[in-house]
Amino acid sequence: MQSLILSNEQLQVLITYVDSHAPLESCGLLAGRDAKVEKIFFVQNQAHSAVRYVMDPIEQLNAFEWIDSKEMELLGIFHSHPTGPEIVSPTDIAEAAYAVTYIILSRADDKWRARGFWIEDGGFREVTLQIT
Ligand SMILES: [Zn+2]
Repeated sequence: MQSLILSNEQLQVLITYVDSHAPLESCGLLAGRDAKVEKIFFVQNQAHSAVRYVMDPIEQLNAFEWIDSKEMELLGIFHSHPTGPEIVSPTDIAEAAYAVTYIILSRADDKWRARGFWIEDGGFREVTLQIT
C-alpha cells in the first residue's frame, strides 16, 4: 500500500486550518520529496461552499511554480469535509486531476480525522498516512 509521511505538527496545522474555516470546506496542497511532506500551501476555496471546493487557480499556479523551483514534487491535495464523509465523494473522484494522494479531513463529534486516498479510473483506494 502506498503511504504519505506527515509530521504530527503538520497534521495539527492542517486541522487548525480546516477547523478555522468550517463549516466551509477548505483546501490546499502538500509538497515534498520521497513521499515526505515538507511544505503545506493553503489555497482559497473559490467556491466558498460547505459541500465543495474549487482551488483558486492563481494561488495554485504560484504554488506549483514554487514547488518546481525547489525541485520538490506535488505529493498531495487536501480538503475538508466539515460534515463528513470520511472518504472522497463522487464529485472528488470525478474532478480528481492529479496523480497524488487526496487527503480528506473530516469532522465528526467535533473531532477531525485525516485519511488519504489514491483516485484512479473512477475509483479510489486508501493511502496510509504515516504520522511521525
Ligand atoms: Zn470532497
